Amino acid sequence: MTFNANGFNVTYGNDIAVTALEEIGNYVLVTQPEPWALLKNRVTNQPVQIIQSGDLAPEHLDHLAETSPSTTIVGLGGGSAMDTAKWIHWRRSLPLIQLPSLPSVDACFTRMSALRDRGGVRYEGDAVPEMVYVDFELFRAAPRVMVTSGIGDVLSCHTAWFDWRFASQEKQDEFGWTPELATISQTYLDELYDCAPGISELTDDGLRRLMELHRDIGWRCHEWGHARFEEGSEHFFAYTFEEVTGRTILHGELVSMGVQIMSHFQGNNPERVRETIARAGTRHRLSELNVTEGEVLESLRRLPSFTIEQNHWYSFARMLKPNEYNDKEIISLLNW
Ligand SMILES: [Zn+2]
Repeated sequence: MTFNANGFNVTYGNDIAVTALEEIGNYVLVTQPEPWALLKNRVTNQPVQIIQSGDLAPEHLDHLAETSPSTTIVGLGGGSAMDTAKWIHWRRSLPLIQLPSLPSVDACFTRMSALRDRGGVRYEGDAVPEMVYVDFELFRAAPRVMVTSGIGDVLSCHTAWFDWRFASQEKQDEFGWTPELATISQTYLDELYDCAPGISELTDDGLRRLMELHRDIGWRCHEWGHARFEEGSEHFFAYTFEEVTGRTILHGELVSMGVQIMSHFQGNNPERVRETIARAGTRHRLSELNVTEGEVLESLRRLPSFTIEQNHWYSFARMLKPNEYNDKEIISLLNW
């Protein structure tokens, strides 16, 4: 069955970023040094202003919005460039064009910006770009792990739907679980499994299909008004890891780690998760991720209390009891 995505206008192609920039008239560019370095000497139509993205504090973003020239806003880069461009566009009602340089997250296909506020993440805004240009050459110029980690926020559907159903069984569901929802998640997961070798090999087909998954998931988040189908105990594990260690690693790799661990606790086909990760060539061994066994185990110990404190949605994260699992077995789930 072919997967058909909904969502924002999108154009896919090879080396389409330069042409796109030549044709849009005046623009403010929101970017990071690496992707702009690839393009700047090839573009005649230079931006009227360049804004470096990175700081996602709301005060900073509002300052950027207030001082931006009134012209088209172009985001070029990863999540922070997309989110900053979205904020300026939304605050000022200026046209928006997005040129993602990484498929690591779905920020170019979601409406809200992820703000970093008082140590946490908060989602706000309502951005709709005129066009998202996906230039495969930009992806292929990025470090490979930034591409192969892009499966994380699709793979998370594997554990998220299971958590959602569990919450419903426990009478703790505020979003209206129905059995058809499992089918929707399965469609995403089957498509991901199917296109994973293309992601690993960075083919046009693999990259396009990964972005189409992100596009549809971004659309569904807005359509349903929540991300319950895509965010569950695997993300709660990731947030706990960040709290326990005071640092983070690539989001998609951390979330994939969470899916491997939590699908095991759910008794929810962890073999299939492992196979998908293997096919996509996503890093998973702790040594490759520079994560210690102690950090994983400590995060797991903290998970049940942290997820309750943070008022996360009801999930398997609440059910873990340290005396009921074997530390070695958990580590072996990751070091294959
Ligand atoms: Zn995520």
